[in-house]
Amino acid sequence: PLLLQDKVAIVTGGAGRNGLGYASARMLAAHGARVAILDLEQADPAAAAAELGPQHIGLVADVTDKASCVAAAGEVLKRLGRIDVLLNNAGITQPIKTLDITGANYDAVLDVNLRGTLYMSQAAIPSMREQKSGAIVCISSVSAQRGGGILGGPHYSAAKAGVLGLAKAMAREFGGDNIRVNCITPGLIATDINKGKIPEDKRAAILDSIPLGCIGEPNDVAGCVVFLASDLSKYCTGITVDVNGGMLIH
Ligand code: NAD
Repeated sequence: PLLLQDKVAIVTGGAGRNGLGYASARMLAAHGARVAILDLEQADPAAAAAELGPQHIGLVADVTDKASCVAAAGEVLKRLGRIDVLLNNAGITQPIKTLDITGANYDAVLDVNLRGTLYMSQAAIPSMREQKSGAIVCISSVSAQRGGGILGGPHYSAAKAGVLGLAKAMAREFGGDNIRVNCITPGLIATDINKGKIPEDKRAAILDSIPLGCIGEPNDVAGCVVFLASDLSKYCTGITVDVNGGMLIH
């Protein structure tokens, strides 16, 4: 049997074809899961899901809005019957320095990355609890661990560090319900979030600092998502998996 046969997976921020979410949705589907892609209206999640195949669905959902998360989870339960996997992937970043961060900047970045992870988890956990199984995977960032990645500002580092703490606390709280919660901390992965934003003069120095000598691809993260979503990792909870080419060995 396939690793995720009969499983239903939600992927937030999963509609961008070049993103980590869509690559993960595609790999979850390849391993047998039916996938619900959630994303903002302008990202057209229904079209993204249709590309994966007719058994998958796309739903417009804004993770910063609790009612939107609850409605989406309800729709997934109605149409796909259960929720086994939640990938909290939706995220935004801003390349701003500490003294320039406005309240609006802070709210925007914290709301999508951290509040969104909380709200979507709150929406998915009740049905996982009822079925006594679930796997939640949260996308943090190397930026949380080293205090700044390459592009994100301090508020992004803070939001992604918040995701690590939230995920570990949820892992502790829901272990007894057989719900596992784990994080992935990607390094530099080529997606739309950083496309064209890495200055050419910095590129060589960045590559020099990565032992594996290259920038990552979305599928490098997707592979870890499948591992953490499936029973391959059934004794792992509260862990953080670095997918960074060795950029941060600690
Ligand atoms: P991306 O911009 O392609 O994907 C982000 C997705 O989130 C988009 O589809 C966007 O529409 C969606 N989104 C934004 N706001 C939303 C909201 N309020 N509700 C629902 N969806 C929303 O970028 P990506 O690189 O694929 O990023 C995916 C995740 O990986 C993010 O959390 C990002 O912070 C994280 N990350 C990326 C890298 C990298 O190098 N690419 C490194 C570390 C962490």
